[in-house]
Amino acid sequence: MTERSYVVPWGKRGGILGEAEAAVLAELVRDDTPLSLGTWRERFEQSFAGLVGSEHAVTATSGTVALELAIRMLDLEPGDEVIVTPQTYQATVQPLLDYDVTVRFCDIDPATLNIDPAAVRALITPRTKALLLVHYGGCPAEMDEIMALADRHGFLVLEDCAHALGAHYKGRAPGSLAHIATFSFQNAKNITTLGEGGMVTCDRDDWAVRLDRLRSNDVDAELEKAVPAPGSDRAMEPIVLPWMKYSASVYSDSVRRLRYAGTNATMSEAAAAVGLAQLGRLDAVTEARRAIAARLDEVLERYPFMRPQATPAYSAHAHHLYTCFADRQEVRDQLVLALDRRGVEIQLRYFPQHLLPEWRHRGHRAGECPVAERLWFEEHLNLPCNPRLSGFQADYLVEALDESLAEIGGGPSAPAPAVLAAVRDR
Ligand SMILES: *Cc1c(COP(=O)(O)O)cnc(C)c1O
Repeated sequence: MTERSYVVPWGKRGGILGEAEAAVLAELVRDDTPLSLGTWRERFEQSFAGLVGSEHAVTATSGTVALELAIRMLDLEPGDEVIVTPQTYQATVQPLLDYDVTVRFCDIDPATLNIDPAAVRALITPRTKALLLVHYGGCPAEMDEIMALADRHGFLVLEDCAHALGAHYKGRAPGSLAHIATFSFQNAKNITTLGEGGMVTCDRDDWAVRLDRLRSNDVDAELEKAVPAPGSDRAMEPIVLPWMKYSASVYSDSVRRLRYAGTNATMSEAAAAVGLAQLGRLDAVTEARRAIAARLDEVLERYPFMRPQATPAYSAHAHHLYTCFADRQEVRDQLVLALDRRGVEIQLRYFPQHLLPEWRHRGHRAGECPVAERLWFEEHLNLPCNPRLSGFQADYLVEALDESLAEIGGGPSAPAPAVLAAVRDR
């Protein structure tokens, strides 16, 4: 299949990299600083925690690994129930396939695509241990209502903030709104650590210690001071220099309870250094996304059969995605085709998770989340909304949307499409 080239591509690369990132990379290449476990990782984590307003920020190699590690903190036991959103990327919920728990897909709000607190309430049972949500596209979920339910019923909430860096909810940043949160710095996300990377944020000190062990090849375990085994012929005493890693805990600790094996999820110094530089661009990048979104909103306002994703008044949207809905499938499908014909690359994000083969294998079925299913199969589409779009591409996108909607709806005719005309005249 040959790849089609679009006038307005979806934007395979989301973030913007430039001189600041090149400079830190040149520094790392030229001097002798370590490329793993140096000082950049901690500086990135500290800045990130400050930005988000969390006590701890723990880097990982991807958003997926951050989710895997964060889910470890939920201490899921056989028979527990976990409420999850079906409208997210598969990495949010896929780790749960490895646990012997009951997953309850919870329907979403048709205006925001975020998990619906009323639907959450209906799924809570005495076995509910945790809830996993996403701030869809960068629009914060209804956290006050959800956290009130969590407090009342005693379950933990994990927020997947892969889209939400730059967003605000009642003046606070996603990443500090639940018990634990994860971020992705993959290539297409709002900032990137050179293509792959992730972060966990939380306030609990004991979780920060456990997360750090898990990502550093140590086991996640409850340790206690060792009682020397009676009759042991090997003295459990340090025999090497006391500062050597194995001289301390290996000799003095024993495991009271073993939870999980660790892994190596160390973010490289190059990635962390770029991440720190990217934080300096976050405001500008977020503004660029919002500016495109505002222009697309303006076009949709002229067509009563279309509506944009709603943003609650007290929230600021980070616009990782620009999402809108047609009032029926015929219109949605025509719009996708009309925009594609004009060279605008359209995506649909995301397929309802409970209908993926692996979750159907676990007994999940169509009808479980009627709102999520209707929106996906009939109403929903995503338009490019990327800070890398040139002024020309943004103008072209706005006019192509307007012209396509006028063609489909016969509604108010679009203003003369200057950019489209110029392209056609060439
Ligand atoms: C991108 C993404 C992830 C996974 O992040 P990676 O860094 O690609 O592993 C998880 N959840 C959501 C909602 C995402 O968009």
